[in-house]
Amino acid sequence: MNKSELMSIIEQYGLRPNKKLGQNFLVSNAVLDKIINIIGISSDDRVLEIGPGLGALTGRMVEVAEGVTAVEIDSGLYRYCAERFRGKNNIRLIHADFLKLDLADTFTKFVSNLPYYCSSEILFRITRYSAPHVYVTLQKEMADRIIAGPGNKTYGALSVTLGFYYQPTILFGVSRESFYPRPEVASSLVRLVRRRRLPLSGGDIDIFHMVVKSAFWGRRKTILKALSESPHLQAGREGAARSLAAARIDGGRRGEDLTLDEFVSLAEACRDLRGEQLT
Ligand code: SAM
Repeated sequence: MNKSELMSIIEQYGLRPNKKLGQNFLVSNAVLDKIINIIGISSDDRVLEIGPGLGALTGRMVEVAEGVTAVEIDSGLYRYCAERFRGKNNIRLIHADFLKLDLADTFTKFVSNLPYYCSSEILFRITRYSAPHVYVTLQKEMADRIIAGPGNKTYGALSVTLGFYYQPTILFGVSRESFYPRPEVASSLVRLVRRRRLPLSGGDIDIFHMVVKSAFWGRRKTILKALSESPHLQAGREGAARSLAAARIDGGRRGEDLTLDEFVSLAEACRDLRGEQLT
């Protein structure tokens, strides 16, 4: 779909791109081809797409995939897609806010040109699903945050959390001109490959999330102070000091300098401390 085709559809259907819902539609067929080629949809893929919009990616995926589930929040776009894909029996359109949905965990690929206003919430939420491959177009700055390592000023809860679940790669940049309306900043296509074995399991994962939130809640604080005072963990100073000692982490360091492995060790130490408190 190029820009003039898109303009005629939005006029015909009385649609208006809604900035608040992050509606920037892909209007470069060259970029669309590049994305579709790299995603490599096959006939046994069950795809989850967030925000099909006018169906640029959806239309191409539905030609090949076993099934596409597309979740669209906007009623006008949902109606347009329902009409466009009427008669296709391998597509399920859902009119909903993805952030409020709990879908069965049956997908093989997750694909989205993410709405910018809630990209990080969506990324945190997709970690609940075990789809092996995730392909997302997002703001270049956020893509850089995802792959940042310790000590980098953009390293944060998003980098550590996504690193826990996935191996991330920036595949290529996408210019502002590839979208209509043109967004304020450039984008990148990112691939996240799900780790076959997560570093922790069960309730330890919840503790890991609390530790990461605490560490970056007090980004400028030492890790000892951040853990002691964080409302997310409530470890107290003595508990925090003991957990850090057990994980062999100097309490004078900052969360932004800790590696993923150190966060994992710290979560294990916090779990042991909780166990002791319970006995
Ligand atoms: N996939 C289309 C494309 O590439 O041209 C549209 C992408 S546009 C950047 C983001 C889409 O996500 C819009 O259609 C928007 O209405 C939809 N959207 C925004 N927030 C959403 C949410 N919370 N749940 C589901 N869809 C959402």
